[in-house]
Amino acid sequence: MAVATKIRSKKHAAYERLLRSKRAELLAHLQEHREEVLAERVPDDNYALATRTLMEDLAVGAIQRERALLGELEHALGRLEEGVFGICEACGVTIPERRLKALPWARFCLECAERRQPHWKN
Ligand SMILES: [Zn+2]
Repeated sequence: MAVATKIRSKKHAAYERLLRSKRAELLAHLQEHREEVLAERVPDDNYALATRTLMEDLAVGAIQRERALLGELEHALGRLEEGVFGICEACGVTIPERRLKALPWARFCLECAERRQPHWKN
């Protein structure tokens, strides 16, 4: 039986490990959040209710950010599979190493990222 061999650039192996471990960490965290929500009891007074609502808003915000990041990680791993990791999705240039080190799931080079979302530091 023939074994399909995929040639994968060695310099990206470290990013792949990093992306996979970050993804595992996020998944574990999201699972914890889910268990916390399930474990919560119904508050018995208005103060508890208000506090709970605030905590929930914060938790929901955090979960949404984590989910969004998880999506970016999945996307970056997909790009690794396709062999297009580290290439700007907008202009096709190679994303500089120092940018990938700071943001391994970056889709765009810095110029394109700034053009798309001027306030977005990522
Ligand atoms: Zn670009």
